[in-house]
Parts: sequence; structure tokens; C-alpha cells
Amino acid sequence: MSGSARGTSAEGGVGEGTRAVRAGLPEPVKHEPTLPGPVFAAHYHLPGESTGPYTYGRDENPTWTHLERAIGELEAPGRDGVETLVFASGMAAISSVLFSQLRTGDAVVLPSDGYQALPLVRAQLEAYGIEVRTAPTAGDAQLDVLDGAKLLWIETPSNPGLDVCDIRRLAEAAHARGALVAVDNTLATPLGQRPLELGADFSVASGTKQLTGHGDILLGYVVGRDAAAMAAVRRWRKIVGAIPGPMEAWLAHRSIATLQLRVERQNAGALAVAEALRDWHEDLGVRYPGLMSDPSHKIASQQMHRFGCVVSFTLPTRARADRFLDALRLVDDATSFGGVRSTAERRGRWGGDAVPEGFIRLSVGAEDPKDLVADVLRALDESAQ
Ligand SMILES: *Cc1c(COP(=O)(O)O)cnc(C)c1O
Repeated sequence: MSGSARGTSAEGGVGEGTRAVRAGLPEPVKHEPTLPGPVFAAHYHLPGESTGPYTYGRDENPTWTHLERAIGELEAPGRDGVETLVFASGMAAISSVLFSQLRTGDAVVLPSDGYQALPLVRAQLEAYGIEVRTAPTAGDAQLDVLDGAKLLWIETPSNPGLDVCDIRRLAEAAHARGALVAVDNTLATPLGQRPLELGADFSVASGTKQLTGHGDILLGYVVGRDAAAMAAVRRWRKIVGAIPGPMEAWLAHRSIATLQLRVERQNAGALAVAEALRDWHEDLGVRYPGLMSDPSHKIASQQMHRFGCVVSFTLPTRARADRFLDALRLVDDATSFGGVRSTAERRGRWGGDAVPEGFIRLSVGAEDPKDLVADVLRALDESAQ
């Protein structure tokens, strides 16, 4: 069993594992490393005219350039005219799109069940006189609030509820009304979903999660196909200065070489854990888009190549959830997701998401799936006592 729907198909002549391993590598240069090391530079030697490509470290860095190429090759393989920009974090990337595209008097549609920092963003947008409308991710509810909007922001699968909406359908409806479309692709990763191919104008993500997968760096990116819109995003990065350090950018690029291996393993583990939770004698309301019985499965299997490494479910009480987390031995109680070491948390502890007290978000790592399933089942059993 694997968590992959159509994930093994070859693209652009080679398989996606090959593409991930080689993504963004420069032409080989004799006596130089395959992936050049991080370039630490605030400024570059610049006699004469002040033109690029490398002038000042807040604008450009060769280590970013390699990483941006790598991400672009995975998000939009074989597409011309697509630009990628890397950021210091996922929130820096998200903010760069929203605040560079929207003006006072514009309207934007955000998910009501999206990433927990979106309400903070909402308050800031409203403080600038931007109208913010929200709709839940399930059932394409955004369609009802699109009229007159400048930008539609989609998060699918949503975090942490794992609902899915139809990107192609929503993008067509938004474009028909003259709105731009951005998709938060954090949970799926570019090997799980390619929003630009589904009609989105921007694919935006936190690279902090499964893209880099080791829980040791923060990173974000924006991929876009509209040159004018991307020029505004680039300008935003320059004026806000939310740039990644060269070391983080290089570590991220190194990690992308193993992205396909990690998503194959982690997503297969997530499916195994989701099936075990589904078959448990208590009804845990397990959500995983890769489960045939999941309400998200139909749309997910149309637009996703893989279903992610996150499984969510609900224990009857907060106390039971805390006992369950304590009883786990192979799963750390920690936030975030997508790392090679499994993590889980009682999401209600943050107060930001509209989830029950016993709601658990579990991120499946690269451990042996059978060991994880055994650990989860044992912790369920022990915590029931
Ligand atoms: C983590 C996350 C973000 C924010 O990313 P940071 O790198 O933490 O700034 C945005 N969207 C989603 C879906 C996330 O999971």
C-alpha cells in the first residue's frame, strides 16, 4: 500500500524522484561541488553600473537562486514564465502575496478554517481598509462570497481539519470575476499537488514543514506565473526584508533531494495510521484525504498526487487526549508537521482553531509504519484506562 494516487508517473521524461534529486542543480563545473555551498554575502563586488544579478544581499543571493529553481521545477515542471521567490518563513511568503496584491477598498476571500495565523493577518488587512470575507474549505463554499473580490486565498487540504476544496473549479469561478487565486500548498508539498496546473496564479507554502522535513529551519516560498504580480511580490520582499539566510536556503535545497523518498515513506505511514485509527473500536472521526471513506477523498484524488503525512482525529475528552499523547513513545508531543520524526499535539491547546478539546493532529514521520501503528494503538489502549 502506498499513499500515492498518481505520484509515480514520469514528468518531463524522468520520474519525480529523479527530478527531486536533481532539482535546481547548476551545470556541473570542474572541481566545484554538485550543489554549491551557501554564499554568505551582504554585498557583492560591483564595479561600474549597479545592475544585477547580484548586487546587495537583501535583493538576491546565488544560494536562493538555486533553491528557487529547484522549487520552481517541482511546482511547475516544464512551464515557462513561472517565477519563484523564497522567504524567511511561510508567513513571510503568505504576507508578501496578500499585502502586495491588495489595496484599501479591495476585498479578499480567506478560509475560515485555515492556518492559525490567518486571523492575525485578517486583522492587519482590515486595519488597512481591506474587506476580508471568510468561508469554510469544505464544499467549495468560497463560491458564494467571490463577487467583487480581488483575491481568493485557498488552503487545501486545510490545516488542521483536512477538508479539501476543488481548486480548478474555484479558480475558474474566481478568474471569471477577475480575481487572482493563491493556494497554500504547505500540507501537500509540490509532489502532492501542483496548484498552478490546476489554474491558480500563485502557489505559496511554508517550507518549514514537509518540504524540508527535518524540523530545523523556517522557510517560505511563492511561485507565480503573472509577471506583474510577481514583480510586486519581489518588491514586497525587498521593502520588508523577510529574506532567508543563505544557510537555511542551502539546507532546504539539500533536503529537497530526499523529498520524494520522504513523502513516499511518510505518506504511506500516514495511510497505515489512518486505517488503523479508522478500524479502532471507538469512533475517532479520523480524517485523512487518502482514506476512501473520507469526505475529502473524491476531490483530493482528482487534484492531488499524494495525500500528505497529516492525520487528524478526535478523542472523547481533553484528559484522554493528554493521556494518549503522554503514552506515545515514538511520537513527540510538538507542534508543526511534516518532519521525519513523528509529532502529534492536542490542537485545542493553542485556542486558535475551531476544533474539539480532544482533537489530535498527528504528523507521520519516516519511522517504520508498523512500529508507528503499534505505538498509536498501544497509546490508545493505555489512555482508555
Ligand atoms: C506552518 C504553516 C504556515 C506558516 O509557515 P511558517 O513557516 O511557520 O511561517 C502557513 N500555512 C500552513 C498551512 C502552515 O502549516
